[in-house]
Amino acid sequence: MRFPAVDVVIIGVGWAGGILAAELTKAGLKVVGLERGHARGVLDFQHDIDELRYAVDYEMMQDTSQETWTLRHNLTDRALPIRTLGSFLPGTGEGGAGVHWQGQTWRFEPRDFTIRSSTITRYGASAIPADSTIQDWGITYDQLEPTTTRSSTWPAFPARRATSRARFRRAATRSRGHAPATTR
Ligand SMILES: Cc1cc2nc3c(=O)[nH]c(=O)nc-3n(C[C@H](O)[C@H](O)[C@H](O)COP(=O)(O)OP(=O)(O)OC[C@H]3O[C@@H](n4cnc5c(N)ncnc54)[C@H](O)[C@@H]3O)c2cc1C
Repeated sequence: MRFPAVDVVIIGVGWAGGILAAELTKAGLKVVGLERGHARGVLDFQHDIDELRYAVDYEMMQDTSQETWTLRHNLTDRALPIRTLGSFLPGTGEGGAGVHWQGQTWRFEPRDFTIRSSTITRYGASAIPADSTIQDWGITYDQLEPTTTRSSTWPAFPARRATSRARFRRAATRSRGHAPATTR
């Protein structure tokens, strides 16, 4: 079967794919999303009497009997497929993991983007182990700031800069007994 041609095909309609689809469509492109899981509608979010459906049967999560990763605990172990999900809960179906995320929208701090260089500036090069792969991002907080601010106005991302920054300050002050050195 041959489908009509479109401008963009997105594989996986979770957060990234969903946002891309919305933005590209608004820009006038024809977009098709291919999703391995099922579509979601109002019925999926209504209370029913099946308490096992999500919490135990993980209906919103990747089905590890169909598709999974292998794991070994050390180099001599035989890598075996993960069949039981733990705290790592990859989503499946329309919306992906964004359907069961926890709603925390912490904003990165400027220092997060320069984590390698600011660690060296503050603590010296010896603070970073030789085999560490830690890197600066290559883009700065200021470059990303307009996009971050824009995303904070979307209904799914309710946190505002002032809120997350104020929380960060309070938490840092509580845990270290002083204000963080790298806030703007
Ligand atoms: C329990 C939990 C709580 C979380 N809480 C937070 C939080 O509070 N704050 C926060 O910032 N982040 C949170 N996250 C993380 C956040 O949900 C993810 O970072 C985000 O959803 C990732 O977006 P994504 O588009 O990369 O992947 P996803 O949203 O997972 O989307 C990937 C999509 O691709 C589909 N797919 C995969 N492979 C294929 C294929 N071969 N063909 C077709 N479709 C495919 C999947 O079914 C899925 O729908 C949480 C995650 C989990 C699991």
